[in-house]
Amino acid sequence: MSTTEGKADAAAVEEMARSATAWCAMHGLVVGDRADPRSGTVPGVGLVHAPISLLPSRLPESFWSQACELAPLFNELVDRVSLDGDFLQDSLSKTRQVDDFTSRLLDIHRKMMDANKEENIRLGLHRSDYMLDSETNSLLQIELNTISVSFPGLCSIVTELHRTLINQYGNLLCLDAKRVPGNDASRQFAKALAKAWDEFNVDSCHLDTGQTVGMARSSLFGEASAPTGQSGRFGGSRARCERQLDTVWLVGQDSLLDLWSLQRVEAEAPALSRLFGSADFALVFFLLFVFESPLLAWDLAFLPCFSRNGRKVAVVYFRAGYTPNDYPSEAEWSARLLMEQSSAVKCPSISYHLVGTKKIQQELAKPNVLERFLENKEEIAKLRQCFAGLWSLDDKEVVKSAIENPDLFVLKPQREGGGNNIYGLDVREALIRLKKEGGDALSAYILMQRIFPKASLASLVRGGFCHEALTVSELGIYGAYLRNKDKVIINDKCGYLMRTKVSSSDEGGVAAGFAVLDSLYLT
Ligand code: ADP
Ligand code: MG
Ligand code: MG
Repeated sequence: MSTTEGKADAAAVEEMARSATAWCAMHGLVVGDRADPRSGTVPGVGLVHAPISLLPSRLPESFWSQACELAPLFNELVDRVSLDGDFLQDSLSKTRQVDDFTSRLLDIHRKMMDANKEENIRLGLHRSDYMLDSETNSLLQIELNTISVSFPGLCSIVTELHRTLINQYGNLLCLDAKRVPGNDASRQFAKALAKAWDEFNVDSCHLDTGQTVGMARSSLFGEASAPTGQSGRFGGSRARCERQLDTVWLVGQDSLLDLWSLQRVEAEAPALSRLFGSADFALVFFLLFVFESPLLAWDLAFLPCFSRNGRKVAVVYFRAGYTPNDYPSEAEWSARLLMEQSSAVKCPSISYHLVGTKKIQQELAKPNVLERFLENKEEIAKLRQCFAGLWSLDDKEVVKSAIENPDLFVLKPQREGGGNNIYGLDVREALIRLKKEGGDALSAYILMQRIFPKASLASLVRGGFCHEALTVSELGIYGAYLRNKDKVIINDKCGYLMRTKVSSSDEGGVAAGFAVLDSLYLT
């Protein structure tokens, strides 16, 4: 390449990056700006374009199809495993001895088991994450998230951005926008939430069982306790039910953009338009906790507000509650318990939440465990094919080899949200220390085979600056599952999240500042 051409390339990239950031500003592909102290406190102030990859990352189409095909299988698997309370309790029994957070979640789960609480309507909004292992050229699962999965809103917009850039600069790039798969994660998630609400609305008129989540409010904010067994208060005619069941709770603070992306879909999901903002229905977002999570530092803090007239809550959607930081006091734990006891559809229920733990991922990868939950041999084989090596730390041989070759492993605690895993020489150090501590100290962790994706050059745009780096990518496929007793109403893949990070970084979180949002270019 001649110098002139090189310069022309660099100039073209700069121009593209400028159009990209302008496009982001115009289309809401923005996040809070941590450099602005008022960001996250004043709506509409302190926003900056989301960290993005300038162009989509390449992936052979066969891996894309494979990942898409796995989504409904994982959805079904989560549901099946969630019904086996003993499996969840037993698998996590050692972990709970050393991990207080897991232990508290298990306490709630145990209470529901003891009460024989059945969830008829089960809603899962999941995301299964994968990396392409360069050594085996196979797609391997990093983890399965069942609570508060991030970015269904923004990732759909990134896809649009990349298609626009390719259309605009197509000749220069020799790329075809049709190779970027469509992404409507936010719309499909919104539809699933709306559908769950519909199911509840229909169902609860016949059943009218259980307490209302309104009680959580009473307990958390010290109001007089609502009576239990709400039949008097919420029983009655269908018409009355319909008026009362118009609330979705979003538990935790969400970014303005995720909410906005749900609002955008009003037209497609009529039920949601009732939820989001119609005066007739006096929509209430019931934001129970206002968290100060460092990871979500840019998020808007919503003040708690209350369901007017003590309306019954149909769906509780958790956008928080997955880290110990989200439970600063006993009040949050009692609220979580009360929500679980309620008849509302929980997304996720405590069981779904536990199925998403790393310990359960490791247990499911053991021989003959998938067979406990699924019958179809082909489907079992497909799931197993994407499992990386996963081990409990009871396995002395594996612990020994991880101490010898720490680079080949990742040590993972039972935590979510990025930044918690241990890599490289720290694995050795941590294992030696945990062994010395003795007892069950090792049970707080699992070991996982380290996956090494092939690195490729990409232009990353952050804070208005574009730079080229060697990068690796992680593909997440969203999945929605909705079931009412024996009837599976939704079991679908729902768009994707591509995250790209510099290859030298171990962790991959976008919010944590390690990765950028990306989309896919199928080859
Ligand atoms: P979290 O629930 O915190 O997101 P993950 O298991 O997804 O935990 O790990 C966080 C990040 O660490 C991933 O996004 C990925 O970049 C990296 N990572 C996790 N497991 C592996 C692995 N086995 N091999 C290589 N990188 C991994
Ligand atoms: Mg996770
Ligand atoms: Mg993850």
